[in-house]
Amino acid sequence: MVRLPFRDSYYEVRPSKIIALAKNYVEHAKEMESDVPERPVFFLKPPSSLIGPGEPIILPRMSKRVDHEVELAVIIGKRAKGVPAEKAMDYVLGYTILLDITARDLQAEARRKGLPWALSKGFDTFAPVGPRIADKRGLGIDDLEIGLKVNGHLRQLGRTSEMVIKVPEIIEYISSIMTLEPGDIIATGTPAGVGPLKHGDKIEAWIEGIGVLKKEVY
Ligand code: MG
Repeated sequence: MVRLPFRDSYYEVRPSKIIALAKNYVEHAKEMESDVPERPVFFLKPPSSLIGPGEPIILPRMSKRVDHEVELAVIIGKRAKGVPAEKAMDYVLGYTILLDITARDLQAEARRKGLPWALSKGFDTFAPVGPRIADKRGLGIDDLEIGLKVNGHLRQLGRTSEMVIKVPEIIEYISSIMTLEPGDIIATGTPAGVGPLKHGDKIEAWIEGIGVLKKEVY
């Protein structure tokens, strides 16, 4: 569970699942030497990977290469099952930033062998969120700047308008497969510029209108 500022108070984010889109920005798909999929491709991160403000990212010993991916995250506000795209926004509480931390070497091995991504995406601390939840009523998400710096150096920069599959269509597709519960999180994919993290790094990730998520790497 993570407490994030929301409206005049806090919201306790207790996701039953964290859903993350793969390859939803063209330039990132290219840098992964991959094509943009016709249908959304997604995977799950365990709720145990979630961390909130003040908690560091911890690099696991099992991996030699851990990458950052900054993503716009949708927080679901009410149970959604089989929701059409036109109605999808009724089921959204708001938005935050999620870092889809990825053990890239383990992911590459899984891709080679045709194995699932659960290992490479699922370590503890691999889903930092924050710094707050922006109310959906106060934030249009069609064209927001999204970026990430490591130790003050720009690594990722894009706009949410570059997303291939948009939030209403993502909710329609996911909710046709699995019921979304309040507090569930959907991470909508990362723009280009993903890169490695090392011990002592300081991350600043931002999305226009939401704020800046600061993280240290241990
Ligand atoms: Mg990602």
